[in-house]
Amino acid sequence: MLEDARDTRERPRRTRHRRPPPPPLNERCALFLDIDGTLLEFAPTPDGVAVDRELAELLNSFRRALGGAVALITGRTLANVDRLFGGARLLVAGLHGSERRSADGSVRRHERAAAELAQLREDMGRFAARHKGLLFEDKGATFAIHYRRAPALASFVHRTLRRHAAHASIVGWHIQRGKGILELRPEGRDKGTAIVDYLQEPPFEGRTPVFVGDDLTDEFGFDAVTALGGQAVKVGPGPTSAAYRLPDVSAVRQWLAESLEQVEGRQAPTQ
Ligand SMILES: [Mg+2]
Repeated sequence: MLEDARDTRERPRRTRHRRPPPPPLNERCALFLDIDGTLLEFAPTPDGVAVDRELAELLNSFRRALGGAVALITGRTLANVDRLFGGARLLVAGLHGSERRSADGSVRRHERAAAELAQLREDMGRFAARHKGLLFEDKGATFAIHYRRAPALASFVHRTLRRHAAHASIVGWHIQRGKGILELRPEGRDKGTAIVDYLQEPPFEGRTPVFVGDDLTDEFGFDAVTALGGQAVKVGPGPTSAAYRLPDVSAVRQWLAESLEQVEGRQAPTQ
């Protein structure tokens, strides 16, 4: 424990884990919600979860109360979320922001990332094959170059990968460094960019963003809404950049239900 404490003091990031629960939502917010582990409990498989009627109604009521400014931000595909919600075609950003349905019904898919990745994969595969001790690993959505057997090449590999990624890049790529390994992941699309994209469109524009999520990938969303003066809510334990925390799915549901009552209560006389 002492070791841990010393460790955290040295890190520049805010690593104290205690966060207060979020205040109730108001009618001027735009609501962005992760699905798994946030609105729905995890199941052994992603297809093992089911949307209960209560959740469907809660989301519907929020859409009415917030002028439609409710979107789901998830790692699932859009088609998968549509199936999950019984074909209800909600506003969804799927695959961590790589596909996104706008309020006008149009869907944007960022196929450019796939095309760029294919080119980089080919270039870097050839590069690795030319140098003894380098190992190229294709991981599908990303790739890695191992240089553990040729540590002297480390900075050369890094420079080469960075140069290729910068050349290819409309999407933007992040080079992840590990022990004897460099890995590439698309930087241009994440849950944060999906939220920022929504906020430039009706009915989201001009509203204060609130994002609720439980996972590491949700930190991108937390950073985005916090930078825009909104509220980030982390679900469950663990370090986070979010300012608020709720312990679990049922606490999220309860907070949403209570917020809805307040929002609807304020709107009732004139709507
Ligand atoms: Mg999640």
